[in-house]
Amino acid sequence: MEIWFSSGLLKWYKKNKRELPWRNETDAYKIWLSEIILQQTQVIQGTSYYLKFTINYPKIGQLANATEDEVLKMWQGLGYYSRARNLHATAKFIHKEHKGVFPANYNDIKALKGIGDYTAAAISSFAFNLPHAVVDGNVYRVLSRLFGIETPIDSSLGKKEFQQLATDLLDKKEPAQFNQAIMEFGSQYCKPNNPNCEACIFNSKCFAFKAQRVNQFPVKAKKTKISNRYLNYFVLIDKKNSVLINRRSENDIWKGLYEFYLIESDKEVSTQELLNNSKLKKTIGPKPNLLYSSKTYKHILSHQHLYAKFFVIKTNGLFAKSEKTILLNKLTELAFSRLIEKFLNDCKLKEIV
Ligand code: SF4
Repeated sequence: MEIWFSSGLLKWYKKNKRELPWRNETDAYKIWLSEIILQQTQVIQGTSYYLKFTINYPKIGQLANATEDEVLKMWQGLGYYSRARNLHATAKFIHKEHKGVFPANYNDIKALKGIGDYTAAAISSFAFNLPHAVVDGNVYRVLSRLFGIETPIDSSLGKKEFQQLATDLLDKKEPAQFNQAIMEFGSQYCKPNNPNCEACIFNSKCFAFKAQRVNQFPVKAKKTKISNRYLNYFVLIDKKNSVLINRRSENDIWKGLYEFYLIESDKEVSTQELLNNSKLKKTIGPKPNLLYSSKTYKHILSHQHLYAKFFVIKTNGLFAKSEKTILLNKLTELAFSRLIEKFLNDCKLKEIV
């Protein structure tokens, strides 16, 4: 089907592809690493993380034997931390259950934690040249524009329709090249904004271009619902410069990362009101010294807008032994969210305490 598309695309790719560290890689472990890192991450940012992981953990067994804290620390700044936790859990599973050998067929790959249709197709085709078509955001965009498909991409019907079309179009002799080519074309030419239609090799056939409706594709059914959260962080430091910390354990953002004492509210709350919080008062004891109040940091995640403030308080006493603490000068050894990292870079804690 549509031979003009796959032959044109492959020719375009051979001439225009970017050289990237994971390009032409056939080690399934490294391909998997690159795919997980690049989910919801720009290539430019993902590259340094890919290099860091492959240098520190060149084999899957080394990643499996690392601690979760080490993996999260290395992941720090990339966001969507469940990816890092799943990566680590899957490395352990393959190390133990598959003797460190990455599964070599689509179904076994897809059965792994943190791997969906797209990633299973990417690994199967790039590492083992199996004929499984990838469908990611780039592929939805290219196919919907080119063939004028208006079925919403976030509906189950749309998912099936696009997967079928991508499978029909796939060059079965060169699935790895074809899959990389269509994604590269989407990210370099058929971009979300200002696509390079004038120079596009498909413009004489492209439905959206000919109908001057390029920015109406792909179609989405739902609007993303955004919620607002207000995070009031208290950096509580005792007489011996121990800082009270908490490791996030709930099924929520940043699970497994560290944070400071937190009071979360559903609206903005005044500093005085926060300081009157009875649990906080009990923790900080009498005559605490408020050393610093930050500006409001706005941090945008895909479904949440976070508004965070930080207060640095020196207490007069010592924290109980049962509390989780770390010495101030060891704070940077912990994995924090990017939001807390930003605050730590701005505030220069050691200078104000
Ligand atoms: S003509 Fe424009 S919209 Fe159509 S495939 Fe090419 S880049 Fe995409």
